Amino acid sequence: MNDKARLPVGQEAVEKFGWLRAHRFLILRRLSQLFFLSLFLLGPWFGIWWVKGNLSGSLTFGILPLTDPFITVQSMVAGHWPELTALIGAVIVAVAYALIGGRVYCSWVCPINPVTDAAHWAHEKLGMQKGWQPKRGTRLWVLAMVLAVSALTGTIAWEFVNPISMLHRGLIFGMGFAWTFVVAVFLFDVFLSRRGWCGHLCPVGAFYGLLGAKSLLRVSAANRAACDDCMDCFAVCPEMHVITPALRGKDGDTPIILSHDCTNCGRCIDVCAMDVFAFTHRFDATPAPARDDRARSKPTPGASRAA
Ligand code: SF4
Ligand code: SF4
Repeated sequence: MNDKARLPVGQEAVEKFGWLRAHRFLILRRLSQLFFLSLFLLGPWFGIWWVKGNLSGSLTFGILPLTDPFITVQSMVAGHWPELTALIGAVIVAVAYALIGGRVYCSWVCPINPVTDAAHWAHEKLGMQKGWQPKRGTRLWVLAMVLAVSALTGTIAWEFVNPISMLHRGLIFGMGFAWTFVVAVFLFDVFLSRRGWCGHLCPVGAFYGLLGAKSLLRVSAANRAACDDCMDCFAVCPEMHVITPALRGKDGDTPIILSHDCTNCGRCIDVCAMDVFAFTHRFDATPAPARDDRARSKPTPGASRAA
């Protein structure tokens, strides 16, 4: 193993750039998650009704409808054609995520993300084995199953068990039974499956991933020639399989992470002390020389690291 891979994850970046810069996208994501949550809480908690509704469907300033397109699709296959306003809201949200990256929803908006990030932190601290790791396509099968059940039962099936809606509505209207689902996701990720919920099962993430398959905003391993195999990016990435093709590509291979599984969380940018990664757009054609692998050992992606 490379000597640097023995250091705690991100330590070198903190020493080199300072704590704030080495956590900038993590901090921005938490602020973004808090911002979207606060918008919905302003009304019920403080009587300021800039936004009415919740993540499933809302109206901002009385004119801007925003609807979860996954709920809209379930409603349509269930045989319930949405009202025009809800349909317009779904189109607006779908177009936005199709442009900026579908799974931006997962890492910058979804209120379950801090829960699963905390679960991952606890999982690493407890030194748990990675546990059950279903195939990457599993969440697509869950997505197909949800749509099939919606069609067969005439209901918006996922909403009966969706921990995102439960947590969001729970925070707005009172938690009640909703805690059970949120705690279940947390415990599942800590004890049964590393990064299990968001990384393997959640059909909402699968849906948004498909939505953003051709999105513009991308992370690029533009400076991959400087990589020293510290492995920090693999340790923090919730979808570590997306990094290898970009980082370890040959000269001429694109350094841009094109997998729709990438959540654009930016943690790889934060923790890389060699400044390998940066946000860019999918058509960025700046040449990115490959790494000189003869000068390096080749550690195994996914090797356990101290967080
Ligand atoms: S890209 Fe950066 S964080 Fe990832 S292994 Fe290379 S030096 Fe480490
Ligand atoms: S590749 Fe980087 S931006 Fe994409 S999910 Fe992994 S850590 Fe986040």
